[in-house]
Amino acid sequence: MIKTIKDLDLKGKRVLIRVDFNVPMKDGKITNDNRIVAALPTIKYVIEQGGKVILFSHLGKVKTEEDKKTKTLKPVAERLSQLLGKEVLFVPATRGEKLENAIANLKEGEVLLFENTRFEKGETKNDPELGKYWASLGDVFINDAFGTAHRNHASNVGIAQHLPSAAGFLIEKEVKFIGGAVDNPERPLVAILGGAKVSDKIGVIENLIEKADKILVGGGMMFTFLKALGKNIGKSLVEDDKVELAKSLIEKAGDKLILPVDTVAAKEFKNDTEFRVVSVDEIADDEMGLDIGPATVELFTKELKDAKTVVWNGPMGVFEMENFAKGTMGICEAIAKLENATTIIGGGDSAAAAMQLGYADKFTHISTGGGASLEYLEGKTLPGIACLEK
Ligand code: ADP
Ligand code: MG
Repeated sequence: MIKTIKDLDLKGKRVLIRVDFNVPMKDGKITNDNRIVAALPTIKYVIEQGGKVILFSHLGKVKTEEDKKTKTLKPVAERLSQLLGKEVLFVPATRGEKLENAIANLKEGEVLLFENTRFEKGETKNDPELGKYWASLGDVFINDAFGTAHRNHASNVGIAQHLPSAAGFLIEKEVKFIGGAVDNPERPLVAILGGAKVSDKIGVIENLIEKADKILVGGGMMFTFLKALGKNIGKSLVEDDKVELAKSLIEKAGDKLILPVDTVAAKEFKNDTEFRVVSVDEIADDEMGLDIGPATVELFTKELKDAKTVVWNGPMGVFEMENFAKGTMGICEAIAKLENATTIIGGGDSAAAAMQLGYADKFTHISTGGGASLEYLEGKTLPGIACLEK
């Protein structure tokens, strides 16, 4: 069990909140503020409780002094201020007297954001002095940055060692849904796995083969499995050094594992090209499979019908191209029809696919953590969450 924000007394306290404000930027402008919006419930709660809000986050990768000019959180403070309808004091420092004075002057319910945590070299090394210093700026610590929960950094794990610490609402939700689905699912648990490569997902596949009642495999990775069964896969995406692994996974999973029966194949990797639906036994040498076919959508839909929990990672095809998005869309459709199931989608591109295809509100939970979601689905302990354990 982890401690959550409601377990802490916040009134009058200096509340350090590690948020994920790692938003996409172009020419100093925020191009998508989803992550700021997602942090609002935790921030508003602390304001309502009469805490003094001290926010911090990383933004991008900081390698050179030049990077510091473009990776400032100042535009984020402005956007956050608009969203909250409240002044957000931005302090362009990560330590020192200015920051300490600003915090000392902070009143209950006021909000401060300090500069990009990665301006400090010790951040990504979890330098113990840095974590201790940041902890000294507050009375309690809330971690709500799920996107970096798989990292062992000073601004999450380091601080937590020195203060009463708890999860914010975002992390609490991820733990409830992904943690719940992987550790204690209502059954049957059906896992859907796809995406580009087997090698990216070995941990996820192995963990879910253990835990799930059924595994449906699509996406680029299906061809390594089909090759393991001795099928001709033409020019499809394949990892020859993973064919043996795929063989052993097929053996281990037995009846649990369901592979596609047809694919949408083309001669070129582009949207505007001829394509055809073909059985997985009849892929021509000069063709590549870019999506699962309609018979596979039907087969997977049948397997999903009685599911009580669904965990999906990895698109079923090259959903970025309209002609090869139908498989992913078909599976979204099948999931949308489930009435009494907890449905979870995780992975950067998978979440993007669900949103782009207009199914975002059909899932119980869309995990937006990217790398963190994947490691969580692999059953790994995430250091940014483990440090919040009671
Ligand atoms: P996630 O980010 O959700 O973990 P991945 O990064 O593993 O997912 O995979 C997403 C990518 O896989 C997409 O860009 C998609 O185009 C690609 N993909 C899916 N099916 C195929 C296929 N049959 N051939 C080539 N690429 C594919
Ligand atoms: Mg990806």
